[in-house]
Amino acid sequence: MTIACTDCGTLQDIPPLPWGAIAICPTCANRMERTNGRSINGALACASATFVLLFPANLLPIMHVSMVGMTRESRLGSGVVTLWQHQWVIVAMLVAAFAVILPFVRFGLLSLVLTLVQLGHRPHWLGRAFRWSLHLDQWAMPDVFLIGCAVGYSRIAAAMPVQIGWGGICLIFAAFLCMLSRAALDARAVWRVLWPECAAPPADQPAIACRFCDLVRPAAAEGSRCPRCALTLRARKPDSMVRTTALVIAGFALFFPANLYPMSVDRQLGVLVPHRIVDGIMELFQAHLWPLGVLIFFTSIAIPLLKLAGLSWLLLSIWRGSRYRLVLKTRLCRLIDEIGRWSCVDIFTIAVFLPLMQFDGMVSTDAANGAPPFLLVVVITMLASHTFDPRLMWDAALTPRLHAHPGQA
Ligand SMILES: [Zn+2]
Ligand SMILES: [Zn+2]
Repeated sequence: MTIACTDCGTLQDIPPLPWGAIAICPTCANRMERTNGRSINGALACASATFVLLFPANLLPIMHVSMVGMTRESRLGSGVVTLWQHQWVIVAMLVAAFAVILPFVRFGLLSLVLTLVQLGHRPHWLGRAFRWSLHLDQWAMPDVFLIGCAVGYSRIAAAMPVQIGWGGICLIFAAFLCMLSRAALDARAVWRVLWPECAAPPADQPAIACRFCDLVRPAAAEGSRCPRCALTLRARKPDSMVRTTALVIAGFALFFPANLYPMSVDRQLGVLVPHRIVDGIMELFQAHLWPLGVLIFFTSIAIPLLKLAGLSWLLLSIWRGSRYRLVLKTRLCRLIDEIGRWSCVDIFTIAVFLPLMQFDGMVSTDAANGAPPFLLVVVITMLASHTFDPRLMWDAALTPRLHAHPGQA
């Protein structure tokens, strides 16, 4: 069975792997296949349990706080409603998409596809639906939202009594099962059920590979739909360099206002107290919550900066046709793709915090001018890592470069 490595484009013959084996690309050291701990039934159980738990996690209160006889509660959607009412429309829409809507779509689709696969039904849209369920893995964030809740809980608990509601307990289980379903899902086994891979094409016949499901097709099929996942087949991601460069420049332009302007503003007995990202980190350290301070430093400052600087390095290396540390750069590309979503922790903390801290005349809190650019940096860097094609680094390094000078024929 021949598949193409998604990171370097090398065609590989992979025999059926025994239990516990790992197939590693000899060119870029990408883990192409792993059987240990993976099963379609296990992933189906975890995905459908996550889908069911999302209902109480959304409908029931996550946290309650009480102050001078008044009680406030926070639900998954109430932060979105409060942000919308306070005119933070972009932040409200993106938090609603990542924390409420896309988790339902992702786990609903995944449960449906895996159920049909196990029942032996193969409707023509099954491959497309499976591709979307995998694609939404990065954008559906119940696990990241849970970490945002944990940071919000610790910050509030330092000041006043706070209780976790049934919605919070269901969210903890849903987030845990979400991570477990990702670990248990054997995507390649599902792809093979939908459309088995063939033997390698003859060496003299050019081939292209689907960049999503790795299926190898004759080069003449370029521009048509992949028979397995219905993605349009292209030798490389179209306009990858131009799109990624534009997104990285936009990311750098928004990174500075995101860090210089406050993310939230507290009103305490009529006095306004702005909180930039760095202020929030300092407060966590002063409250002796230094593990959370370190977490917010990494997710809100270090990871966005690493993504922008890392992608700039990768783009420059393609322009220069560099052969330097190609395996390291391919690993960096994979890391940037995987860690991007965790930058949303601080924004989710605000979304949990906001409905709880509305004691008019005493304490209230609101998002501030730093929140929209910060969230846009996260989205733009995630899009940039999706539009970047790591195979271009290998193409550029392996293409012989001409060093012709003017006057030389
Ligand atoms: Zn590879
Ligand atoms: Zn495909």
